[in-house]
Amino acid sequence: MSTQETPVVSNFIRHIINKDLAENKHGGKVATRFPPEPNGYLHIGHAKSICLNFGLANEYQGSCNLRFDDTNPEKESLEFMESIERDVTWLGFEWSQLFHASDYFEQLYQYAIDLIKAGKAYVDSLSPEEIRAYRGTLTEPGKPSPDRERSIDENLRLFEGMRNGEFADGQYVLRAKIDMASSNINMRDPTIYRIRRVHHNRTGSDWCLYPMYDYTHCISDALEGITHSICTLEFEDHRPLYDWVLEQLDVPCHPQQIEFARLQLEYTIVSKRKLNQLVTEKYVNGWDDPRMPTIAGLRRAGYTPAAIREFCERIGVTKKDSWIEMGVLENCIRDDLNQTSARVMAVLQPLRVVIENYPEAHTELLEVSNHPQNPAMGSRKITFSKIVLIEQDDFAEVPPAGYKRLSPGQEVRLRGGYVIRCNEVVKDADGNVIELRCSYDPDTLGKNPEGRKVKGVIHWVSEAHSVAAEIRLYDRLFCRPHPDAEPNFLDALNPNSLQVLSHSRVEASLLGTVPGSRFQFERMGYFCTDLDSSANRLVFNRTVTLRDTWGS
Ligand code: ATP
Ligand code: MG
Repeated sequence: MSTQETPVVSNFIRHIINKDLAENKHGGKVATRFPPEPNGYLHIGHAKSICLNFGLANEYQGSCNLRFDDTNPEKESLEFMESIERDVTWLGFEWSQLFHASDYFEQLYQYAIDLIKAGKAYVDSLSPEEIRAYRGTLTEPGKPSPDRERSIDENLRLFEGMRNGEFADGQYVLRAKIDMASSNINMRDPTIYRIRRVHHNRTGSDWCLYPMYDYTHCISDALEGITHSICTLEFEDHRPLYDWVLEQLDVPCHPQQIEFARLQLEYTIVSKRKLNQLVTEKYVNGWDDPRMPTIAGLRRAGYTPAAIREFCERIGVTKKDSWIEMGVLENCIRDDLNQTSARVMAVLQPLRVVIENYPEAHTELLEVSNHPQNPAMGSRKITFSKIVLIEQDDFAEVPPAGYKRLSPGQEVRLRGGYVIRCNEVVKDADGNVIELRCSYDPDTLGKNPEGRKVKGVIHWVSEAHSVAAEIRLYDRLFCRPHPDAEPNFLDALNPNSLQVLSHSRVEASLLGTVPGSRFQFERMGYFCTDLDSSANRLVFNRTVTLRDTWGS
């Protein structure tokens, strides 16, 4: 997180709840909900809201519902609903009950009739543009629509006609009758129903009249007996409307809306609309592309639910907007995988090493630890032979000062194996190093050589006993910290966010690894087996580097 803006891990919401419980407000209960609109996959910002809502419910032995806010049928789909259920579950949470705002369409309609009967809503024939023009500005009051004083009977008749499909889309709207001079523009007779002939993925063509978010949300909360309706700061200005609607109606309870600052993560985007654009315009390979800040993308990249929950814990909940550095998220997964993932050896960009004094056709099984700090994770055997592969980057023909890897005439230890010395460098016609001729010291297995120090240790695999793998190295999707602040966020895309290595070789123990398995590739980072991986073609994603090297 930005050092100058380290958010204090505040529990202001807990303070509110504790006070409410002490005063027996809301009947001494805690009931929350997570209310996504199913118009995209969930992202890391939603994880913050999920951890908060489900976390509070768990902490106070209360309940937390999952509610699909499905009032914009044209943007919503069953695929998105399924992905949301999958992601919440994967994060480790269980909803008390699953609802859809569309479950309440009939009740919402009846409540609208109550509003009309009370003289608190009217059918308006102004167009959306006219409504906007009539609404006024921050400095000027709005002016009333000519339809504002329409009679209750007339309103009831027209509203029924709206439901029955008697009018064209957009011909009428239903507006709450509040205050055209309110200093809060949301209170200047907001639209609460509009006519729209679109197929709804749950109610089909039952309705051509759909309720607006502000009207739907508060009533849905009340119908579910929600006590604390937690949302992000941009809804602060909508709270008076939330409360107004509930005050006019005979609803079961009046939940309390509480706002907190939304997560803003550097070098990425947390807006379903823009993420959708990245997917549909193919800047990424789907919603679960490991570069995406979606839960599905993070999962595919190798993130664990525990790391994401820990991230939400570390960033805390405040009322003040701030930017969180990507490094905070990356450190959470590093800390988790450092403890839990087995160490294996994989050579990403191989360089052939022929050990000239090693017997032809001879092999040995070397025992290496799966986790040096955790002996309980055991060990495995790796085949050593005359030809091994090392990382191209672990050899320098002209080593810089202090170089601890391999260079001509110098020695290095192969992890879990012997010390080798580079005797000769073989190049192709273009001068590229294609092979090293080395010798090994047979007396160095598990012990230091006599009379000299060998500092460097590098990883390796046996050429004949390793397996081919494709390795996908991911980098940040954007190369500027606040892509949203750019005139066009697409201009901030990192052109090198994906590098595919197709000549990598991994140790044979990785054969048969199932998608989602996580490893530390020694010295190279944390990796997981990708969904595209199969017995014939291993594919791994880099989850994160071992250390934060970004920008250095
Ligand atoms: P988006 O613009 O990405 O669609 P949204 O707020 O419209 O976001 P919803 O599906 O309506 O998305 O959100 C469900 C819940 O998740 C809401 O309560 C919302 O406040 C919360 N939420 C969404 N984005 C964030 C974020 N970046 N940080 C914290 N909470 C978020
Ligand atoms: Mg939304």
